[in-house]
Amino acid sequence: MSTPIRDEVNAANTAYAADFGDKGRLALPPVRGFAILTCMDARLDPARYAGLAEGDAHVIRNAGGRASDDAIRSLVISHKLLGTREWFVIHHTDCGMELFDGPTISTLLETSRATASFDGKVWTNTQDEGGSKEGWHTAWLTFTDLAQSVRDDVQRIRSHPLTPDAIPVHGFIYDVKTGRLIPVD
Ligand SMILES: [Zn+2]
Repeated sequence: MSTPIRDEVNAANTAYAADFGDKGRLALPPVRGFAILTCMDARLDPARYAGLAEGDAHVIRNAGGRASDDAIRSLVISHKLLGTREWFVIHHTDCGMELFDGPTISTLLETSRATASFDGKVWTNTQDEGGSKEGWHTAWLTFTDLAQSVRDDVQRIRSHPLTPDAIPVHGFIYDVKTGRLIPVD
């Protein structure tokens, strides 16, 4: 199905591939030997904020940059099979994961799966699209304390039974107002 967005992506890719150069010869394991777990927020560009080129590092992204089971699965593969030896957890200011909690999104979804509206305080369903099917649950991994969310995820990764003892796990907050990375002790 052709959509304007699909056409834009195709056009951008045509230009990118035309200038691909020798990137087709990159090796699979990340050359610089590290991995970043960070949020999917559209304002964050890990390649730019951390100075990455194609082939340099693994970047694992999800809502919040949380150390979910699946994020840890990726980190373990990243180290065990692809040789990364240093990991970063990078959350950010003004994260959408601070704007709701699990019961809120679950309740919204029960009524409608369409995009909800937010007035700065309260989320409401404004479009009808049928509620979620019963019996589907997930941990939404929202948070209320940004620095603590970084500490929690670093700790969860460090204490995971499949994480090697020697691997450094660095915690940072990315400031969306300045582009700076702020370390979290
Ligand atoms: Zn975020």
